[in-house]
Amino acid sequence: MINQKMFDLGDEPNKIRELFAYGMQRKAEIGAQNVFDYSIGNPSVPAPQCVQRAFEEQLAGDPVVAHEYTPSPGDPAVRRAIASYIERAFGFPATPGNVYVTSGASSAIAITLSAVCEPGDEVIAIAPYFPEYRTWAHTAGCDLVEVPASVPSFQPDVAAIEAAIGERTSAIIINSPNNPVGAVYTRGSLTELSAMLARKEEELGRRIFLVADEPYREITYGAEVPYVPSLYADTIVCYSFSKSLSLPGERIGYIYVSDRMPDAQAISTAVAGAGRALGYICAPVMLQRVIAECLGTPSDVKTYAQNRELLTQGLAQLGYEYVEPEGAFYLWVRALEPDAVAFSERAKGFELLLVPSDSFGVQGWVRLSYCIARDTIERSMPAFRSLMESYR
Ligand code: PLP
Repeated sequence: MINQKMFDLGDEPNKIRELFAYGMQRKAEIGAQNVFDYSIGNPSVPAPQCVQRAFEEQLAGDPVVAHEYTPSPGDPAVRRAIASYIERAFGFPATPGNVYVTSGASSAIAITLSAVCEPGDEVIAIAPYFPEYRTWAHTAGCDLVEVPASVPSFQPDVAAIEAAIGERTSAIIINSPNNPVGAVYTRGSLTELSAMLARKEEELGRRIFLVADEPYREITYGAEVPYVPSLYADTIVCYSFSKSLSLPGERIGYIYVSDRMPDAQAISTAVAGAGRALGYICAPVMLQRVIAECLGTPSDVKTYAQNRELLTQGLAQLGYEYVEPEGAFYLWVRALEPDAVAFSERAKGFELLLVPSDSFGVQGWVRLSYCIARDTIERSMPAFRSLMESYR
């Protein structure tokens, strides 16, 4: 016997990874330069020099220490470094005891939901949303409730979120800068959301946690990214270095339980318990120590800004409709027919790999990851033109 739920999960296609795998196969068949792969969010700028230096320092040191276990929530010195970075960067009191080092945002969110939700609870996600939120909510025994974002701003629709909150709501996941639409939530939106949540907590007599999923915090084109714990006390930050330091395959991030919560210590204990239960303990030691040396020195985002200009100008000239991204490195483009899956399939015929929006909980759009070579964007424009012409 095997666990049917886990079999179904393993068997269920992940559209982004499926397209990415198709792209790898297609590149082997017709040459990488002939495939315009906008499928996955693999940073295209190198990790900053600090990362290389910190790795070298680790390797030059004691070889036993370099590979040792750390305590389950992370190396105490690393947790101290993260807490003091939070204090420095956001002027927000943080204690090392409330930092839990993880293998990226994925494990951070999975741990957090398991730590703060009871089976049968509901977790709200703002659609379109990162597809794995559903998996992690289900793993915690919860239902995922989708609430569409306000269109066309793609800011949270506070009234709709309020209407979706009920006796079973225990968490809301927000992601700003946002994957897949590139929106950055304004201070005004977040303040309004926070005030509503505080009111609902009071009214329902239950905690409603705001889970701030922040892998793209540093990737913006000028917009302010407010620090959510300073606006709403019941916030848990799930941070990742995958994008900010261009280290997606290294798997490193952290959970920060806001020190504004009077019971922060108890929540951190539940986080440690969930980490233990899920087997997410002692994140990769070398990476822990590397990121502790590189806090506040993110990769250079100029390349993404240039790609954004090139792609949006090119698509605008061809007549595509898209959401102007203010952060992250994704472009949300209106499909040229209502069925985004069919549109993505047709795009494949022009060697364009575009992720259909159904994966993100909405219909009629595709997501383009523009963290790719500039040259690929330039060379893909005739393919976008042909795709557009195929609908005329
Ligand atoms: N959340 C969002 C919105 C993402 O886009 C990603 C990765 O692309 C993740 C979480 C998972 O990131 P990590 O690589 O840190 O596990």
